[in-house]
Amino acid sequence: MTDVSLIESVTLLQGCLSKMAIEPGAPARYTLRAGEHRRDLNAVLGKPLSLEWTGAIACTHCGRATKKSFAQGHCYPCFKKLAQCDTCIMKPELCHFFAGTCREPAWGERHCFQPHVVYLANASGLKVGITRATQVPTRWLDQGAVQALPILRVETRQQSGFVEVLFKEEVSDRTNWRAMLKGDTVALDLAAERDRLLARLEGGLANLRERFGDDAIQVLDDSPVAFDYPVLEYPTKVASHNLDKTPRISGTLLGLKGQYLILDSGVINLRKYTGYEVKVSV
Ligand SMILES: [Zn+2]
Repeated sequence: MTDVSLIESVTLLQGCLSKMAIEPGAPARYTLRAGEHRRDLNAVLGKPLSLEWTGAIACTHCGRATKKSFAQGHCYPCFKKLAQCDTCIMKPELCHFFAGTCREPAWGERHCFQPHVVYLANASGLKVGITRATQVPTRWLDQGAVQALPILRVETRQQSGFVEVLFKEEVSDRTNWRAMLKGDTVALDLAAERDRLLARLEGGLANLRERFGDDAIQVLDDSPVAFDYPVLEYPTKVASHNLDKTPRISGTLLGLKGQYLILDSGVINLRKYTGYEVKVSV
Protein backbone atom coordinates (compact mmCIF):
# COMPACT_ATOMS: atom_id res chain seq x y z
CA MET A 1 0.00 0.00 0.00
CA THR A 2 1.31 3.44 -0.88
CA ASP A 3 1.55 6.02 1.84
CA VAL A 4 0.02 9.05 0.12
CA SER A 5 1.63 11.54 2.48
CA LEU A 6 5.05 10.56 1.17
CA ILE A 7 4.24 11.57 -2.37
CA GLU A 8 5.51 15.09 -2.99
CA SER A 9 2.91 17.20 -4.71
CA VAL A 10 4.31 19.20 -7.60
CA THR A 11 2.36 22.13 -8.96
CA LEU A 12 2.78 23.50 -12.45
CA LEU A 13 1.83 27.12 -12.93
CA GLN A 14 1.85 29.00 -16.19
CA GLY A 15 1.44 32.72 -16.66
CA CYS A 16 3.18 36.07 -17.08
CA LEU A 17 5.41 37.06 -14.18
CA SER A 18 4.71 40.02 -11.93
CA LYS A 19 7.15 41.05 -9.25
CA MET A 20 6.84 38.91 -6.15
CA ALA A 21 4.57 40.15 -3.39
CA ILE A 22 6.60 40.51 -0.18
CA GLU A 23 5.03 41.02 3.22
CA PRO A 24 7.14 42.01 6.22
CA GLY A 25 7.45 39.32 8.86
CA ALA A 26 9.97 37.16 10.67
CA PRO A 27 10.95 36.20 8.07
CA ALA A 28 9.32 38.12 5.19
CA ARG A 29 6.57 36.22 3.32
CA TYR A 30 7.04 35.79 -0.42
CA THR A 31 4.32 35.09 -2.98
CA LEU A 32 5.14 34.20 -6.56
CA ARG A 33 2.74 35.76 -9.05
CA ALA A 34 2.41 34.28 -12.53
CA GLY A 35 -0.73 35.36 -14.39
CA GLU A 36 -3.68 34.53 -12.14
CA HIS A 37 -1.62 32.08 -10.10
CA ARG A 38 -0.22 32.70 -6.63
CA ARG A 39 2.21 30.47 -4.81
CA ASP A 40 3.61 30.79 -1.29
CA LEU A 41 7.36 30.54 -1.87
CA ASN A 42 8.40 30.29 1.78
CA ALA A 43 6.85 26.80 1.69
CA VAL A 44 9.15 25.86 -1.20
CA LEU A 45 12.40 26.60 0.68
CA GLY A 46 14.73 23.61 0.56
CA LYS A 47 12.72 22.07 -2.30
CA PRO A 48 13.23 21.90 -6.06
CA LEU A 49 11.94 24.66 -8.26
CA SER A 50 12.12 24.98 -12.02
CA LEU A 51 11.19 27.85 -14.22
CA GLU A 52 10.89 27.89 -18.00
CA TRP A 53 10.29 30.91 -20.21
CA THR A 54 7.92 30.03 -23.06
CA GLY A 55 9.42 32.75 -25.29
CA ALA A 56 6.39 35.04 -24.96
CA ILE A 57 6.36 38.46 -23.25
CA ALA A 58 3.17 40.44 -22.64
CA CYS A 59 3.33 44.17 -21.91
CA THR A 60 2.30 44.71 -18.28
CA HIS A 61 0.45 47.88 -19.27
CA CYS A 62 -1.44 47.10 -22.48
CA GLY A 63 -1.13 43.31 -22.63
CA ARG A 64 0.21 43.28 -26.21
CA ALA A 65 2.83 40.73 -27.16
CA THR A 66 6.31 42.22 -27.38
CA LYS A 67 9.56 40.64 -28.55
CA LYS A 68 11.60 42.58 -26.03
CA SER A 69 10.83 44.00 -22.61
CA PHE A 70 11.47 47.69 -21.93
CA ALA A 71 11.60 49.26 -18.45
CA GLN A 72 10.67 46.03 -16.64
CA GLY A 73 7.86 44.62 -18.73
CA HIS A 74 6.67 47.26 -21.18
CA CYS A 75 6.27 47.09 -24.96
CA TYR A 76 8.14 49.75 -26.94
CA PRO A 77 5.07 51.99 -27.64
CA CYS A 78 4.16 52.03 -23.92
CA PHE A 79 7.81 52.62 -22.99
CA LYS A 80 7.81 55.74 -25.19
CA LYS A 81 4.33 56.94 -24.22
CA LEU A 82 3.86 56.38 -20.48
CA ALA A 83 4.93 58.93 -17.90
CA GLN A 84 6.00 56.09 -15.59
CA CYS A 85 8.65 55.08 -18.19
CA ASP A 86 10.04 58.61 -18.64
CA THR A 87 13.57 59.49 -17.43
CA CYS A 88 12.15 61.88 -14.82
CA ILE A 89 10.83 58.88 -12.87
CA MET A 90 14.38 57.62 -12.33
CA LYS A 91 15.68 61.19 -12.00
CA PRO A 92 12.82 63.19 -10.47
CA GLU A 93 14.89 66.36 -10.38
CA LEU A 94 14.33 66.40 -14.17
CA CYS A 95 10.54 66.69 -13.74
CA HIS A 96 9.20 68.75 -16.66
CA PHE A 97 5.56 68.99 -15.61
CA PHE A 98 5.66 72.78 -15.35
CA ALA A 99 7.11 73.05 -18.86
CA GLY A 100 3.83 71.53 -20.04
CA THR A 101 5.57 68.46 -21.47
CA CYS A 102 4.56 65.77 -18.98
CA ARG A 103 3.65 62.66 -21.00
CA GLU A 104 0.50 62.15 -18.91
CA PRO A 105 -0.27 65.17 -16.73
CA ALA A 106 -3.19 63.46 -14.95
CA TRP A 107 -0.93 60.52 -14.01
CA GLY A 108 1.76 62.97 -12.91
CA GLU A 109 -0.70 64.78 -10.67
CA ARG A 110 -1.73 61.51 -9.02
CA HIS A 111 1.72 59.98 -8.59
CA CYS A 112 4.27 62.79 -8.48
CA PHE A 113 2.35 65.54 -6.72
CA GLN A 114 1.96 63.68 -3.48
CA PRO A 115 4.20 63.19 -0.44
CA HIS A 116 7.47 61.36 -0.96
CA VAL A 117 9.83 59.97 1.63
CA VAL A 118 13.61 60.24 1.54
CA TYR A 119 15.09 57.30 3.39
CA LEU A 120 18.35 55.68 4.38
CA ALA A 121 18.57 51.94 3.84
CA ASN A 122 21.11 49.21 4.28
CA ALA A 123 21.01 46.41 1.71
CA SER A 124 24.72 46.28 0.88
CA GLY A 125 25.89 49.27 2.91
CA LEU A 126 24.49 52.73 3.49
CA LYS A 127 22.35 54.20 0.70
CA VAL A 128 19.86 56.97 0.21
CA GLY A 129 16.60 56.49 -1.67
CA ILE A 130 13.22 58.05 -2.35
CA THR A 131 9.77 56.58 -2.60
CA ARG A 132 6.14 57.54 -2.51
CA ALA A 133 4.97 57.51 1.10
CA THR A 134 2.48 54.75 0.22
CA GLN A 135 5.25 52.42 -1.03
CA VAL A 136 6.80 51.95 2.39
CA PRO A 137 7.87 49.25 3.37
CA THR A 138 7.42 47.40 0.03
CA ARG A 139 10.18 49.43 -1.56
CA TRP A 140 12.74 48.32 1.04
CA LEU A 141 11.74 44.67 0.88
CA ASP A 142 12.02 44.78 -2.93
CA GLN A 143 15.60 46.01 -2.53
CA GLY A 144 16.57 43.38 0.03
CA ALA A 145 17.28 46.02 2.67
CA VAL A 146 17.95 44.65 6.15
CA GLN A 147 17.44 48.07 7.73
CA ALA A 148 15.67 51.28 6.70
CA LEU A 149 14.87 54.66 8.17
CA PRO A 150 12.66 57.39 6.68
CA ILE A 151 14.44 60.69 7.31
CA LEU A 152 12.59 63.41 5.39
CA ARG A 153 9.11 63.91 4.06
CA VAL A 154 8.72 66.19 1.02
CA GLU A 155 5.68 67.46 -0.87
CA THR A 156 6.43 66.23 -4.39
CA ARG A 157 8.48 63.72 -6.31
CA GLN A 158 10.55 66.48 -7.88
CA GLN A 159 11.53 67.79 -4.44
CA SER A 160 12.56 64.26 -3.41
CA GLY A 161 14.83 64.25 -6.46
CA PHE A 162 16.53 67.49 -5.45
CA VAL A 163 17.04 66.19 -1.91
CA GLU A 164 18.45 62.93 -3.23
CA VAL A 165 20.89 64.77 -5.50
CA LEU A 166 22.08 66.64 -2.43
CA PHE A 167 22.52 63.44 -0.38
CA LYS A 168 24.42 61.78 -3.22
CA GLU A 169 27.32 64.12 -2.43
CA GLU A 170 27.74 62.10 0.78
CA VAL A 171 26.19 58.68 0.25
CA SER A 172 25.49 56.20 -2.55
CA ASP A 173 22.03 55.76 -4.07
CA ARG A 174 22.83 52.26 -5.33
CA THR A 175 22.60 48.75 -4.00
CA ASN A 176 25.37 46.32 -4.82
CA TRP A 177 23.13 43.31 -5.50
CA ARG A 178 25.96 40.79 -5.33
CA ALA A 179 26.90 42.00 -1.85
CA MET A 180 23.21 42.09 -0.87
CA LEU A 181 22.86 38.43 -1.90
CA LYS A 182 25.92 37.29 0.02
CA GLY A 183 24.09 38.15 3.21
CA ASP A 184 27.08 39.53 5.10
CA THR A 185 25.73 43.08 5.38
CA VAL A 186 27.04 44.77 8.52
CA ALA A 187 24.37 46.42 10.70
CA LEU A 188 24.49 50.22 10.75
CA ASP A 189 23.30 52.85 13.20
CA LEU A 190 20.93 54.55 10.75
CA ALA A 191 19.73 57.15 13.28
CA ALA A 192 23.33 58.26 13.83
CA GLU A 193 23.90 58.33 10.04
CA ARG A 194 20.77 60.47 9.64
CA ASP A 195 21.96 62.97 12.25
CA ARG A 196 25.44 63.11 10.70
CA LEU A 197 24.09 63.63 7.15
CA LEU A 198 21.47 66.21 8.13
CA ALA A 199 24.18 68.22 9.88
CA ARG A 200 26.56 67.99 6.92
CA LEU A 201 23.87 68.91 4.37
CA GLU A 202 22.22 71.62 6.44
CA GLY A 203 23.16 74.38 3.98
CA GLY A 204 21.82 72.54 0.93
CA LEU A 205 18.56 71.70 2.70
CA ALA A 206 18.14 75.34 3.75
CA ASN A 207 18.49 76.35 0.09
CA LEU A 208 15.77 73.90 -0.93
CA ARG A 209 13.45 75.19 1.82
CA GLU A 210 14.02 78.69 0.59
CA ARG A 211 12.97 77.60 -2.88
CA PHE A 212 9.98 75.40 -1.99
CA GLY A 213 8.84 76.79 1.37
CA ASP A 214 9.64 75.92 4.97
CA ASP A 215 6.98 73.24 5.22
CA ALA A 216 7.96 71.48 2.00
CA ILE A 217 10.84 69.53 3.49
CA GLN A 218 10.21 68.09 6.94
CA VAL A 219 12.64 66.13 9.06
CA LEU A 220 11.06 62.89 10.35
CA ASP A 221 11.69 61.44 13.77
CA ASP A 222 11.03 57.80 12.89
CA SER A 223 12.78 54.77 14.36
CA PRO A 224 14.78 52.41 12.13
CA VAL A 225 13.04 49.25 10.98
CA ALA A 226 14.75 45.90 10.36
CA PHE A 227 13.87 43.12 7.92
CA ASP A 228 14.50 39.43 7.98
CA TYR A 229 14.50 37.26 4.84
CA PRO A 230 13.79 33.56 4.39
CA VAL A 231 17.24 32.26 3.49
CA LEU A 232 18.55 28.79 4.34
CA GLU A 233 21.94 29.40 2.80
CA TYR A 234 23.60 32.41 1.16
CA PRO A 235 25.73 31.84 -1.95
CA THR A 236 29.47 32.30 -1.50
CA LYS A 237 29.86 33.05 -5.21
CA VAL A 238 26.97 34.87 -6.86
CA ALA A 239 26.19 33.60 -10.37
CA SER A 240 23.02 34.85 -12.01
CA HIS A 241 20.61 33.11 -14.35
CA ASN A 242 19.50 34.87 -17.52
CA LEU A 243 16.25 33.65 -19.07
CA ASP A 244 17.02 35.40 -22.38
CA LYS A 245 20.05 33.15 -22.79
CA THR A 246 18.93 30.07 -20.86
CA PRO A 247 15.12 29.83 -20.89
CA ARG A 248 14.95 26.87 -18.53
CA ILE A 249 16.48 27.01 -15.06
CA SER A 250 16.13 24.70 -12.09
CA GLY A 251 17.59 24.06 -8.68
CA THR A 252 16.84 23.84 -5.00
CA LEU A 253 15.39 27.03 -3.56
CA LEU A 254 17.80 28.18 -0.86
CA GLY A 255 16.41 31.62 -0.18
CA LEU A 256 14.45 34.72 -1.10
CA LYS A 257 15.85 38.21 -0.75
CA GLY A 258 14.78 41.42 -2.47
CA GLN A 259 13.22 40.33 -5.77
CA TYR A 260 15.73 37.47 -6.10
CA LEU A 261 15.31 33.74 -5.89
CA ILE A 262 18.46 32.14 -4.52
CA LEU A 263 18.80 28.66 -6.03
CA ASP A 264 21.69 26.27 -5.48
CA SER A 265 22.33 26.66 -9.24
CA GLY A 266 22.45 30.49 -9.20
CA VAL A 267 20.32 33.54 -8.44
CA ILE A 268 17.63 35.20 -10.53
CA ASN A 269 16.11 38.66 -10.28
CA LEU A 270 12.46 37.91 -11.07
CA ARG A 271 11.54 41.57 -11.39
CA LYS A 272 13.74 41.81 -14.45
CA TYR A 273 11.45 39.26 -16.13
CA THR A 274 8.16 41.01 -15.43
CA GLY A 275 5.78 40.16 -18.28
CA TYR A 276 7.67 37.02 -19.30
CA GLU A 277 5.35 34.05 -19.65
CA VAL A 278 6.79 31.19 -17.64
CA LYS A 279 5.97 27.68 -16.57
CA VAL A 280 6.91 27.23 -12.95
CA SER A 281 7.08 23.85 -11.35
CA VAL A 282 7.28 23.72 -7.56
ZN1 LIG B 1 2.22 48.15 -23.97
